[in-house]
Amino acid sequence: VEVEQLQAAVREKETRDNQTIEMLSRQVTTLNSELQSARHESERDGLTGVLNRRAFDRRINDLVSRNTMRPQDVALLMVDIDDFKQINDTYGHQAGDRVLLSMANKFRQVVRGDDLIARYGGEEFAIILPGASLRNGIKKGKQICEVVASARYLLEGMPSEEALSLTLSIGVSACKKGDSAAALIGRADKALYLAKSSGKNRVRSEKDSA
Ligand code: GH3
Ligand code: MG
Ligand code: MG
Repeated sequence: VEVEQLQAAVREKETRDNQTIEMLSRQVTTLNSELQSARHESERDGLTGVLNRRAFDRRINDLVSRNTMRPQDVALLMVDIDDFKQINDTYGHQAGDRVLLSMANKFRQVVRGDDLIARYGGEEFAIILPGASLRNGIKKGKQICEVVASARYLLEGMPSEEALSLTLSIGVSACKKGDSAAALIGRADKALYLAKSSGKNRVRSEKDSA
């Protein structure tokens, strides 16, 4: 009888242990998915949902340092909205925010799956094109410029005949042998500055501003 009681106790303990293990494993699954979404969120810009500056810095450094070991084309587009301050001044910051969101959505429509879109600063975006040469980057930049300039933007409560036009200026650089992320960004920035100073709504590359 004692043996039977002992066996029953052991079985009971096994059942309880199994339940505990099941519960813990469900908790691990939940925590894992929470961790994953927290990680995802920590890389995103709150307003537009594209990569934030921190994530951009990490990705561009990774790509450029990997490039020294195994050279691969990488183009970088620095994108700045033309006369954006006017939008804020005329229609308010909330309208400006909505414009930023619709820009990000436009970029998402034109880039490929492995391209990276990031919010670099206030109204500046960076687009990384892995596998793209400088020529490819310029081509993509022109396409983005045209898509944005040819659309009309309606703000809340705005009659359609008053829809806004928006334009972008874009600077393009491409990764070279022995390049650093800072140098790559610097050349795209310089090209962007040239695009601005030569009239806006255009693409300039590091070749133009060299
Ligand atoms: P340019 O054509 O030379 O680029 O002129 P700009 O007016 O676009 O550039 P400027 O740098 O003078 O102004 C940028 C403006 O972007 C000023 C700032 O208030 C606005 N801005 C930056 N971040 C945000 C944001 O998150 N939301 C809104 N609504 N505006 C922002
Ligand atoms: Mg700017
Ligand atoms: Mg601007």
